[in-house]
Amino acid sequence: MKKYIKPAGLALAFAIVSISFFACSRANDDSLKLRNVGKYEQTMTKDAAVQMEKEIGAFEITAEQRELAKENIGGYKVIDAGRGNPNWINTKARFAFTRFMNFALSECQRTLNNGDMAGHADKSGIGERFDKSMNPADKTDAFLIKAIDYCVKNLNMNKDEIVYELVCGIIGDFYPSPSRCLKNTEVILNHYLESVLYNGKKLADQTYVLPTEGGSAAMCYIFHTLSHNKLLKPGDKIAIATPIFTPYLQIPSVNNYGLVSIDVASEDKTNWDISDKELAKLESKEIKAFFLVNPSNPASHALSDATLKKLEEVVKKNPDLIILTDDVYGTFVNSFETVYARIPYNTILVYSYSKLYGATGWRIGLIATNKDNVMDKLLARLPAKDKNELNKEYSIVTAEPESMKFIDRVAADSRSIGLYHTSGLSTPSQVFMSLIALTNLVEGGKDLYIEQSNELVRQRYITLMSELHLEADASDENASYYTLINVNDLIKRNYDEKFASWKIANKTDIQFLNDLAKKKGVVLMYGPGFDAQPGTVRISLANNNEEDYKELARRLFELLDEYHKEYIAQ
Ligand SMILES: *Cc1c(COP(=O)(O)O)cnc(C)c1O
Repeated sequence: MKKYIKPAGLALAFAIVSISFFACSRANDDSLKLRNVGKYEQTMTKDAAVQMEKEIGAFEITAEQRELAKENIGGYKVIDAGRGNPNWINTKARFAFTRFMNFALSECQRTLNNGDMAGHADKSGIGERFDKSMNPADKTDAFLIKAIDYCVKNLNMNKDEIVYELVCGIIGDFYPSPSRCLKNTEVILNHYLESVLYNGKKLADQTYVLPTEGGSAAMCYIFHTLSHNKLLKPGDKIAIATPIFTPYLQIPSVNNYGLVSIDVASEDKTNWDISDKELAKLESKEIKAFFLVNPSNPASHALSDATLKKLEEVVKKNPDLIILTDDVYGTFVNSFETVYARIPYNTILVYSYSKLYGATGWRIGLIATNKDNVMDKLLARLPAKDKNELNKEYSIVTAEPESMKFIDRVAADSRSIGLYHTSGLSTPSQVFMSLIALTNLVEGGKDLYIEQSNELVRQRYITLMSELHLEADASDENASYYTLINVNDLIKRNYDEKFASWKIANKTDIQFLNDLAKKKGVVLMYGPGFDAQPGTVRISLANNNEEDYKELARRLFELLDEYHKEYIAQ
């Protein structure tokens, strides 16, 4: 089975494998060609070939299995460990949001109060009125008092200004202004990033922030602006740290950016760290950009300190390299340090509140870039023709298009430039982001909520691994938010080599996942969909309770036992 299937053979591979999930196909020849540069070109399984042909993401395959699981033959309660949506939320920031909304409404009613109608809030004396209306004996009020106090004392903000910004923001009666990010909000978000992602490095004062509709929008915006501003052109090579969250594999090809992607792979054997050999690929000046998720998804591992050091060296050899690091899982690793903290000049940082705070429905994330960055330098170096073209476009929203920063272009591009003045994340969302950030900042470094969240997923992970009779990875870099399990290895460890070979020859990865859903009501994700090795599945530790992971392991073995009977019978 582990053989390279030429494009001509793909049709055959198609016919053999179940076809129910092809509905969402978006194949085109280009995408196949581009994605073929990947490292599994030589060892593609039928599943991988089919998936590649149709560019079906792991998420779409899982949607199909979710349907199968609903009516599973065993009549089991469904255990969905597919997606990464956490099953816990942060309450402190939500209580604070509600309480502050009430305060803000009372402020609006001061200026006009006529039935359901109120006016804009009034800035003068608002800080004092805030103090008066908060009750220090109430837990939520006490947090809000502490939060505003932190802004005034630690972030040098004027009390009336910060309270007024939050009041107008939560009420949402003005367009976001400045468009990119509210003024004090940007300072708060910067200090939050510094607190949780920079490992002691002081970069808050030299970083711009653009809040976005989650990390997903951040990704789309960045790809678009890099391409639109000709920092990435058709034919350019980009490197992607694989295995990776599927959109990073799909966006470059689906949007016809014409980029050629090269895998910078990591694997189980090196504990999901990137080897020197793979990192060395980035030394070539042909590589224009490097996209990574750190800690990774699906493998859930952070780059080690040694690898960060090597990456710094590599960038010295390719000084114009643009790095995009998606650090959504950063807080799940102790003493995490983002690539941005090491290589601020070259790095675009993407962060999202979705996972840690159970806030996927809010759509809140951000893009951060250094004030001094390679994107702005490359913009200045564009050929005159490109520059003139872009200047003309951006001149409709700024008097000095030539000096418009990359991150401001991202904001403008997010509304097709023309609607720049209506761009920016909704102000209530920005206020919620500030309140979340302040839950961390007021604790001065020791954030119990973050510790609890880490402990929660870690405990589930340890239980799962123990039930699967696999060794748990106790390394500092393991975020334990997901784990990638190689089912074939699992079979070798728990049964024997011969049975493992039989399973590989007789059950494709997707068939295995379908059986698991259809017979046992368990939904996991297809590893090769993330460019992980054949045989792998991603198990999310975020969305079920500890007991469910025991049951998940039990049902998985139940299916393997059934396979084993089939194997013996033959
Ligand atoms: C879940 C996830 C995100 C978050 O996306 P949102 O749009 O903020 O919900 C971003 N990147 C990765 C790698 C993720 O796994």
